[in-house]
Amino acid sequence: MTSKILIVGAGIAGLSVAQWLTRFGIDFEIVEKRSSEAITHTGLVLPFNAVRELKALDVLERLEGRYFEASTITYSKVTGKVIKTASLTEPPFENDQFIALNREDLDTAMLEGLERKVRYNTEILTVEHGDDAVNITCTNELLNGSYDLLIAADGISSLVRQKNFEGQEMLLDHNVIGWRFVSPFPEHSLQPLHMVGQTDLFTVYPISDDMLYCYGHVYEDLNDIVLGENAHENIKKIFSGYGGPVPYILSQIDDIEILTNRLKSVVKPCFFDRRVVFVGDAANGCSPLIQQGVAMALADSRCLADALAMQNVDQALITYQEKRERKVERTIHFADAPLSHLQNMQSWLGRGLRDLKIRAAGPPDVNAWKKIATDRLFLS
Ligand SMILES: Cc1cc2nc3c(=O)[nH]c(=O)nc-3n(C[C@H](O)[C@H](O)[C@H](O)COP(=O)(O)OP(=O)(O)OC[C@H]3O[C@@H](n4cnc5c(N)ncnc54)[C@H](O)[C@@H]3O)c2cc1C
Repeated sequence: MTSKILIVGAGIAGLSVAQWLTRFGIDFEIVEKRSSEAITHTGLVLPFNAVRELKALDVLERLEGRYFEASTITYSKVTGKVIKTASLTEPPFENDQFIALNREDLDTAMLEGLERKVRYNTEILTVEHGDDAVNITCTNELLNGSYDLLIAADGISSLVRQKNFEGQEMLLDHNVIGWRFVSPFPEHSLQPLHMVGQTDLFTVYPISDDMLYCYGHVYEDLNDIVLGENAHENIKKIFSGYGGPVPYILSQIDDIEILTNRLKSVVKPCFFDRRVVFVGDAANGCSPLIQQGVAMALADSRCLADALAMQNVDQALITYQEKRERKVERTIHFADAPLSHLQNMQSWLGRGLRDLKIRAAGPPDVNAWKKIATDRLFLS
């Protein structure tokens, strides 16, 4: 019997499920509340495991010439004084790639072949469980009705998850405000740089020879600045004492679009409930500190599609959860753990210990990536 499947959300998770299902000859509908013209002007950092997933999906080749491949990552103090530089090309990464790129380029590459399939300006409104089915309404009446499976790929603030678990607190707010933007930086020869302050952090990732993807954050409660109101002014105030490439970047940001987010994570990852299954941030959204959001969205999607290609819907959902649960939980732990120590960085002792640890044991994100590359759990 052919199952009737609806994917909600055409972000990275929704599009990758759609790509895999297409490849397996499984039909689906896919709805997206944005318009087809809406563009997210930001960058993305994709560590080795995200790149492996893009290769499996044949998407990396579509991005040829549109990404920067990093070979090292440096942690420094806000002055620019180096704490530690780590290699991204030595074992266990000698056969891998770490890249950074424009989010728009990834979205375009992920959409290839699905352009006519995605129903834009279509928002899911209600979700109700039925017998071996799920009933939905959305802003396109033609799609209302009953589906054998609803794939919720609608992001960290997932409406499907909210409706499904009504009344339950689904998101944890880390009290950290983050800013993301892409800035010109002519003729640089930079490699990724993390500048660590007190509770503030500024990271720079080249995405081409003359553009940088920048990310900054600060712990909210310790700041006398009203955050979230004027991103450009706040960034200038918080990072004004920084050295290295930051003064030039700050001199360029006035006309640049800046995305502001509160950093949030799911309280607990969720995989499926009856005929609703969650992928990507809707299942496992977490802090961006080890840049695993895209990698998890892609791995969730491949795992779910594989299972749907081999098994009936109910068995496939069980397989999906069994294969992903422990990996996802461990990844969220790696991503969120540094945030719980952020307040300690106000004291010179806290900062001294942090810097000592980075110098002796290596940058925390590189260590997390190494664990993901070598731990038996992730290799299974
Ligand atoms: C500050 C910050 C920096 C980050 N940096 C990185 C990074 O460098 N590398 C990395 O790997 N990850 C990063 N992430 C995480 C990454 O962006 C996400 O993990 C990834 O985008 C998840 O993809 P997704 O498809 O699950 O969700 P999304 O990309 O959010 O897509 C969800 C889609 O669903 C649509 N939608 C929502 N509700 C509805 C509805 N009701 N009906 C229909 N459609 C709907 C939305 O319009 C959207 O298109 C970062 C996150 C933050 C907050």
